[in-house]
Amino acid sequence: MSDIPEPSLTITGGNVVDGLGRAPFKADVVISGQRIIAVEANAATRGSRQIDATGMTVMPGLIDAHCHISFDEPNSNDELFFHRREGLAAIIAAANVTKLLAAGVTGFFDADSLYEIGVDLRDAIEAGIVPGPRMRTGGNALLTSVGGTAGRLIPDEGRRGYGKVVNSRDEIVAEVRRQIKNGVDWIKVHVTGPTPRQKIKGEVQVWSLEELRLVCDTAHELGTPVVGHCRGASSTRDAALAGFDMILHATYMDEAALEAVVEHCVPIVPTFTFQANLAEYGAAIGASEEIRELFQKEITESAAMLKKAYDAGVPMLCGTESGFPLTPYGDWHYRELEVFVRDLGLTPLQAITAATSANAFALGLEGETGAIEAGRLADVIVVDGDVARDVSLLGERDRIRHVILDGSEVTIPPLVARRDPPGWRPSNYGSRVLTRAVVDNITGRNPKSHQAKSAG
Ligand SMILES: [Zn+2]
Repeated sequence: MSDIPEPSLTITGGNVVDGLGRAPFKADVVISGQRIIAVEANAATRGSRQIDATGMTVMPGLIDAHCHISFDEPNSNDELFFHRREGLAAIIAAANVTKLLAAGVTGFFDADSLYEIGVDLRDAIEAGIVPGPRMRTGGNALLTSVGGTAGRLIPDEGRRGYGKVVNSRDEIVAEVRRQIKNGVDWIKVHVTGPTPRQKIKGEVQVWSLEELRLVCDTAHELGTPVVGHCRGASSTRDAALAGFDMILHATYMDEAALEAVVEHCVPIVPTFTFQANLAEYGAAIGASEEIRELFQKEITESAAMLKKAYDAGVPMLCGTESGFPLTPYGDWHYRELEVFVRDLGLTPLQAITAATSANAFALGLEGETGAIEAGRLADVIVVDGDVARDVSLLGERDRIRHVILDGSEVTIPPLVARRDPPGWRPSNYGSRVLTRAVVDNITGRNPKSHQAKSAG
């Protein structure tokens, strides 16, 4: 017997898109145990299980570098912060990961979660208790008392929802250490937040450079990387200067921000899916023309600088902000690839590389997963269609024919319709205010007073 491992699964006859940018080529993909052991034409299969992929694309499973698995598509921050329970949030998150698998997602990064349940969910997935993609997670997002994207809903101190307010250098150090003790993979910082009377594009930087450095130094001493939510130029610049390992959004960069990001070569996860969905499809859910234009503008005004960063060698990663009503689980994990091609001007192969081998960085698995190559972990999808020509095909669920995770084919359970548990969402008395005019309209009474009112 040779010491070549016995193949356990062979995917034959497909067009391999390797996730590393090479032009598609025809080959068999041979898997043994958890890993790919060969990618070659007419491979010897030696009695392993076979998947016939003739005419299909064989590529790495998608990785989503920005997914909020614990949010469960809230309609508002009020709902997210005040209507959710810890145990139920964890149970529902465990159910929602199945939707990711069905969409061909074999890995995802959740930067911050309600009650820090991300740590528990990751451990449950790794222990084989919950079937789900590879997961890496942050704990609570670190916020200053100025807050983050939730504005005044953030308390002056303490924890709320996915966030923890840190008000002094001592609190910063203690919180970073506490989260690392509890097992987070990343520390997340909300470097920006909107303020009611701001005068700049994007959001206001709510941390000083000194404070950002302290987060990085404390986390890095304990071997933990730091990721920042930065919607604006100065925040992106300072996060790069402070030593952040990854930046979410990085919108509205100016020359100084670009220079810092390029010099420190900080991977960026622009995460335009949310904006793109609202801009393009918002009419279907009642979004106004005005807000749709505003969201498209954030993409358009940021795209040129992001492309410059990409051309200068900064890794551009694919994240979708899945977990909101505009980005429900399972439907949009491919969408950022479309935006990368359309708005950033990447080729489909470059976009696929971003969503696979480059995204493995967010999982701490660079070089380990995200590519069809001998030696890599076998996280593979088989897709009906020429994905290298049209990345949108990845959004058509029926085309995802096989999902292989860690060397084994995943059986996707049928997705069943669910209801919301009691108290999970805010319940309203109605959708309108019951003025007399409304009643008069229904009853046809008092037409005069109604007319007078609307004429005035
Ligand atoms: Zn996010």
